Amino acid sequence: MADTVRRLLASCRLPRLETQMLLQHVLQVPRSWLIAHDTDVLEPGTVQRFQALADSRLAGQPMAYLLGEREFMGHAFSVAPGVLIPRPETELLVETAVQHINQSGLAAPRVLDLGTGSGAVAISIALACPQAQVFATDISPQALAVADGNAGKLGARVEFSCGNWYDAIVGQPAFDIIVSNPPYISADDAHLGQGDLRFEPIGALTDGANGLHALETIVAGAPARLASGGVLWMEHGWDQASAVRKMLQDTGFCRVSSLQDLAGIERITGG
Ligand code: GLN
Repeated sequence: MADTVRRLLASCRLPRLETQMLLQHVLQVPRSWLIAHDTDVLEPGTVQRFQALADSRLAGQPMAYLLGEREFMGHAFSVAPGVLIPRPETELLVETAVQHINQSGLAAPRVLDLGTGSGAVAISIALACPQAQVFATDISPQALAVADGNAGKLGARVEFSCGNWYDAIVGQPAFDIIVSNPPYISADDAHLGQGDLRFEPIGALTDGANGLHALETIVAGAPARLASGGVLWMEHGWDQASAVRKMLQDTGFCRVSSLQDLAGIERITGG
């Protein structure tokens, strides 16, 4: 018997929402279409393309890679294997940066996003603060290609450069704000072998050490790259806030504080 939308939704072993999202993606239709057309017979090619995506999802592939995008700060960011999938908790980093930029009153504040991945943080800041001059770096040329594509698609002005942390911005004038969502998962954390994380670039997740190494590198290099009155804000793991506050204090930062994400976890620290 020919597959209909209803039969396919009923027989797939994925959660219903994920099945609907994959089918919408294959058919390029809104959810309301699926509901209104649930007895429509599907083309064999459509069923095959859906089945291939469903099989990948059943094998653990993240939805964002299968759909090719993930929403962040209300914008649809393209993602692909090789770039970290933007997380909702990282929106706190953007909101904090935007607030600081707007309160600074600077006519053309200089912003640096270290390890930009898909470009989600840098591009969201650039879109929210058109007065800012936004720079973003990554060590992965593959990530920068995705980030550059996102900037073009979303109409954001961001200057990208490739390199290891501050090596990518040698010779640049000082910045008024530096932000980063660096790899902060400890190399021995069992989560790296579970769920979506198995499919994401390992270098975006862990520093290969205790999870504090990349954060330390960013903190250590910041004073030389910050303009007077400039601030640094970083995302970190649920149990790293006090270690990051200490790093900043020991490096001479004042007014060091941490902010909680929507789950009540101290998620970003800056000063
Ligand atoms: N927040 C991510 C996670 O826990 C980790 C990303 C990162 O290391 N920056 O899955």
